[in-house]
Amino acid sequence: MSASPSPSLETDVAALLSDWTGPYGGEPPFDRVAVSALEPAIEEAMRLNQGEIDAIAADPAAPTFANTIAPLERAGRALDRVQTIYGVWTANLKTPEVQAVETRMEPALAAFSDRIFQNEALFARIDAVYRARGRSDLTPEQQRVTWKHWNAFVKQGAQLPAAAKARVTAINQRLASLSSSFMQNLLADEAEHVLYLSEGELDGLPQALRDAYAQDAADRGRPGAWAVSNTRSAMEPFLTYSDRRDLRETVWRAYYSRGGNGDDHDNTVSIIPETLRLRYEKARLMGFPSYAAWKMQDTMAGTPEAAMAQMMQVWPAAVARVRQEVADMQAIADGEVGGTAPPIAPWDYRHYAEKVRKAKYDLDMQAAARYLQLDKMREALFWAAGRLFGFSFARIDAPVFSPDMSVYEVKDRSGRHLALWYLDPYARPIKASGAWMNQYRGQQTDEPAAAVVSNNTNFVKPAPGRPVLISWDDAVTLFHEFGHALHAIHAKVTYPSVSGTNVARDFVELPSQLYENWLPTEAVLSRFAVDEDGRPIPGPLVDKLLKARTFNTGFAVTEYLAAAIVDMKLHTTPQGPGDPPIDPARFEKETLEAIGMPPEIVMRHRTSQFFHVFQGDGYAAGYYSYLWAEVLDHDAFEAFTETGDPWDPATAQRLADDILSVGDTIDPAEAFRRFRGRDPDVGAYLRAKGFPVS
Ligand SMILES: [Zn+2]
Repeated sequence: MSASPSPSLETDVAALLSDWTGPYGGEPPFDRVAVSALEPAIEEAMRLNQGEIDAIAADPAAPTFANTIAPLERAGRALDRVQTIYGVWTANLKTPEVQAVETRMEPALAAFSDRIFQNEALFARIDAVYRARGRSDLTPEQQRVTWKHWNAFVKQGAQLPAAAKARVTAINQRLASLSSSFMQNLLADEAEHVLYLSEGELDGLPQALRDAYAQDAADRGRPGAWAVSNTRSAMEPFLTYSDRRDLRETVWRAYYSRGGNGDDHDNTVSIIPETLRLRYEKARLMGFPSYAAWKMQDTMAGTPEAAMAQMMQVWPAAVARVRQEVADMQAIADGEVGGTAPPIAPWDYRHYAEKVRKAKYDLDMQAAARYLQLDKMREALFWAAGRLFGFSFARIDAPVFSPDMSVYEVKDRSGRHLALWYLDPYARPIKASGAWMNQYRGQQTDEPAAAVVSNNTNFVKPAPGRPVLISWDDAVTLFHEFGHALHAIHAKVTYPSVSGTNVARDFVELPSQLYENWLPTEAVLSRFAVDEDGRPIPGPLVDKLLKARTFNTGFAVTEYLAAAIVDMKLHTTPQGPGDPPIDPARFEKETLEAIGMPPEIVMRHRTSQFFHVFQGDGYAAGYYSYLWAEVLDHDAFEAFTETGDPWDPATAQRLADDILSVGDTIDPAEAFRRFRGRDPDVGAYLRAKGFPVS
C-alpha cells in the first residue's frame, strides 16, 4: 500500500534506466517496475547506446584499446539494466501485456543489433585494434576482449566486400523463412497424425496414462476414445507400457517419420537440401571450408574434426553397451513366449528396457522424494559451496518481483561481499517452464560491480507450513542451475563481456554439470537428504539411486550420438553448385550404416524432424556440444575423486582459479588444460555411463 500518487510514466522509465542503488552494491529495482514503462525505457536505452556507439565510431583519434574497446565495454549499461528487467518479465511474469511488449520490441532489438554490426566505421576501428593487439601492451584479457568484439563482427560478415555482404543478408533472410516452413511442417505432422484407441487396445497402459489419453481425445472432440498424439511426451510412455506390439509399431512409425512422409509437409524434398546449400554458400563466402568449420570457429572444440573425433571415441563403447542391453531384453522377451521371440525392434526397445529396469534396478522413485525437501536441498547447495570454496550465504531483504522469492548475500572466505543470489522457486501460470539461471549483472572491475544472479524453478507451491518434496531429478537440476550461478559468483575479471557465464556454448555447461556430482556424496546426503522428522535417507535406497544412473545408457547415448554425428556430417559435406544435393533420407541411412548403427535404435531426432538443427541454427553443427560438456564434467570430477576426497581443497582451489573465476578471459581449452594438466579425456565419461571400457 502506498499513500503517494501513482508516479508518472517519466518516473517509471527513469527507474528502469537509472543506476541500481542499495546497500549491497546496487540491487535490481524489482519493486519499481511498471510494465507500461518497459517499451519507452528500452527505446530510450537504445537511443543512449546508439549515441555512445556513434561517438566511438566518430572519434578522430587513431584507434586504440582505450578509445575503442574499453568504451564499447562500458557502453549500453542502461540498455543492460532495462533488458535485465525485461528478460525477467518475459520469462517469470509473462502476462498478455508483457507479451504485447515483447511482440513489438523483439524486432526493434534485433534491428538495433544488426545496425551495430553493420557500422563500418566502428568495425574499422575494432579491426585496427585487433590487428595491432600483439604489438601493443595489452593484457591477455584485453587481447581476448578485443578478439571477442572483432570475432562477433567478422562472424556476421563485417570483412566481406559489399556484394558478398548483400548476398549474406539475402541468404540469412531465406534461411529464416526456410526455418519457419520446417517448423510448420513438423507441427502439422504432429497435429494431423493422432492415433485413436478403443478400450480393447489399452493393454499394459497404467491408469494415469489412460486418463491422460482419454482427456486428450475428449479435448479433440472424441469423448470415449483414447488419443495418442504424435509427440514425444505421448509416444514415449506408449512405447514403454503398451503390450500391443502392432500398435507400438504404428505409434513409432508415425513419430519417427514426421517431416518425411512425402506429402505437403515433407521437409526432406526441398527445405533441408536448400538450407544446407545456403549454409554452405555462406560459410564459403566467409572463407571457411564448411558450415561446421565456420560455426565452430569460436567454440572450445574449435573444429568439426575435434568434435567428430570425440564422438567416434565414445561410439563403439555406446554400441557395445547397446548389445548388452539388447541381450538382457531379448532374454526377457524369449522368456515371455517360452521360446524364441522376434528380435528386439526399435518399437520394442523402451518396452523391454522398462522390464529390465524393474528386474534389475527395482527403484521406487516416490520413496526417495520423502527425503528430498526443497529447503534442505537449498541448504545443501550452500553447504557444498562453503566446503568447496569457502562461500557463505546470508538471507537479506532486497526488492523482489514475487513474495515467494528469497535473496541471499554471498561472501567469500574473508567475509568480503561477492554477489547476490535470488531464488524464484514456484510455478505460476505466467512463468516459463523448466529451470534456469540468469546473470542479472556480471562481475567486473573496470567499472566495479559484483555479480547478481538468480535461479528459477517451477515447483508447486505447498500449503503453508508444509515442505516441498522434490524428485531426485529435481534435486539434480537444483545443483545444475546453482553450478551456473557459482560460475558467475566466482568471476574475477576486468571487463563484463568475458565475465562469468559469457563463455563458449560447449564450455558453459561444465560448471553446472560438474556441480551435480556433489549431490550424491555421502557428506551431502547424510546431512540434507532427510525426511520431515530428520531421519536420513537409507543407504540401500541411495545405492539403488546411484546404480540406476547407468540404466539404459547404451540406448540414450547411441540415439543421441547418431543424431549428433549426422548433424556434423550434414554440415561438413560440400554443397556447392557442382556437388550433388543431399537427399536427407539416403544420407542418413548411408552415414549410419557406415558407423554400424545398431538396428534396434534410430536417431533421437531424424533429419526430417531435427528442429535443433533446422529451426534456426542454434544447434546446427552444435548438437555435439551436449557430449562435449559431459565429457568435460566427468573428467573434471575425477580430478577430485583421484585424490580420494570429492572435497579435496587443493583441487577445489584450482577449479576456482583455472576455470570458474576466469570467465572467457582465456581460451576454454587452455583453461581446462591448466586445471587438468592435459586435454579432456573420455575415460571418466565412459566409466560414469557404465560402458564396457577396453
Ligand atoms: Zn545448464
